[in-house]
Amino acid sequence: MSKKKKKGFCTYCLKDTNNITDDHIFPRKWYPKSTPKNMEKWQAPAYYKCNNNFSKIENDLLIRFGLCIDPNEIKSLGISDKALRALDPKLGKNPKDIKARADKRKKILQEMFPVSKFPEENFFPNFGPNNGNINNSNHALLVPVDSITTISKKIVRGLTYKLSNKYITKDYDISVHINNEPDVKFIDDILNKFGVKLIRGPGIIVKRACVENDSACSLFSIRIWERYFVNIIVNKS
Ligand SMILES: [Zn+2]
Repeated sequence: MSKKKKKGFCTYCLKDTNNITDDHIFPRKWYPKSTPKNMEKWQAPAYYKCNNNFSKIENDLLIRFGLCIDPNEIKSLGISDKALRALDPKLGKNPKDIKARADKRKKILQEMFPVSKFPEENFFPNFGPNNGNINNSNHALLVPVDSITTISKKIVRGLTYKLSNKYITKDYDISVHINNEPDVKFIDDILNKFGVKLIRGPGIIVKRACVENDSACSLFSIRIWERYFVNIIVNKS
């Protein structure tokens, strides 16, 4: 997040304010190490409070997903390392940071439970137990659906601003679909036929299709680390 604040509208809550910062549309820390150095990491204007709130959610999700990712996968290179580092008090920059890392570590460890205790139908797609074996000694972590919904909506607001220079105003609904539910299969079909594919390095791939005379009205598929897949529909309410 840039410290220099300017005047303008927040892409996310549409607030008109003097406290606008630059927010990374895809969380900055979510880019894998395999991302080309010269690739622009897209940003959008954000009220500093929105920016801070999103950062907290993004960092929490990074830890939860990062702990479930193989450290050697190219499309998520460095993500599991970032998750482990965020929980390491020895890397704290000051007493407050040391305590925050220790507290987070304690919280995450307390929340872990044997994967065999978890109902299989609730596994986040592509984040099930290693080798599909639920009887192994692996541990599971919950991922808050609200966090995924919030960040997915944030990303499509940012992308609509970046790609069409438009805000998704209050007269639009955004619905986020995490599971590969059969009733949202049509999104993939439409995107494969009419969508534009945007590749932001090996870790982030987006497909987008929008209505010709209303670019806010759109469909998205977002694939992060070739693991985390969401489909999103934006339409007039
Ligand atoms: Zn805002």
